[in-house]
Amino acid sequence: MLLEDKVCIITGAASRRGIGRATAHLFAEHGARVAILDRELTLAQESAASLPQRKAGADHLALACDVTDRQQCEDAVQAAHAHFGRVDVLVNIAGITQPIKTLEIGAADYDAVLDVSLRGTLYASQAVIPIMRAAKSGSIICMSSVSAQRGGGIFGGPHYSGAKAGVLGLAKAMAREFGPDGIRVNSIAPGLIDTEITGDKLSAEMREEIQAGIPLGRLGEAHDVAGSCLFLASPLSAYITGSVINVNGGMLIY
Ligand code: NAD
Repeated sequence: MLLEDKVCIITGAASRRGIGRATAHLFAEHGARVAILDRELTLAQESAASLPQRKAGADHLALACDVTDRQQCEDAVQAAHAHFGRVDVLVNIAGITQPIKTLEIGAADYDAVLDVSLRGTLYASQAVIPIMRAAKSGSIICMSSVSAQRGGGIFGGPHYSGAKAGVLGLAKAMAREFGPDGIRVNSIAPGLIDTEITGDKLSAEMREEIQAGIPLGRLGEAHDVAGSCLFLASPLSAYITGSVINVNGGMLIY
């Protein structure tokens, strides 16, 4: 049990095959009480209800929250804090992508992709930091992508690479700013993980081509990323901040 009685807020943890839900499951298996924040309330409720429970009906919480809205992030974090009495971990997982090229990116596309990953990571972090600061302890985990490191070319467009590169910079800067308060901030850069984020736009040919470039010979699974989230949330990583963990099967080695 690596997260016994810890309270963990996870954004974007509703979708059924997503990294967020897999992370929520693993955290709950390790004793955490989890607050699932997602724009899809019904799905968030279904996700929270599906988590392992230690005491019937008392362990987990589902809250509607569009992370692009600062007030909604504030309200959801305050509700989780009021419910559980503490907040130990935030995992910023909410994200969207679009497989379009540079010259096709319109203003609305740019706003949509940047807002969820980058603005959402900032707003959710801003909401938990005062609570963690008062406790002199906390772990914030931010979801970047291999796309930020290798210049895209996997699935998302250049604006997605930009958003995820922004997440890396934001996380590192927050790590430096809040280390003295006992708050650790780290990022994870997954390769291509088999979830619903690609919708029906990942063709069999694209999948095969990508797989051929992965030394471990397969796409990632959501639980592959969840394991790294658990490590960064737990005391096993107590002296790690400002770092990036690559979960990409060797797709990018540097
Ligand atoms: P997913 O589509 O299964 O899950 C994304 C979740 O975010 C969904 O539950 C969705 O409802 C939620 N969400 C979207 N917009 C939101 C908003 N405005 N407010 C709150 N919640 C919102 O995708 P996934 O593959 O599990 O991706 C999770 C994260 O990992 C994303 O940040 C994604 O960019 C990142 N990532 C994914 C991959 C991959 O290959 N799947 C690779 C690298 C990084």
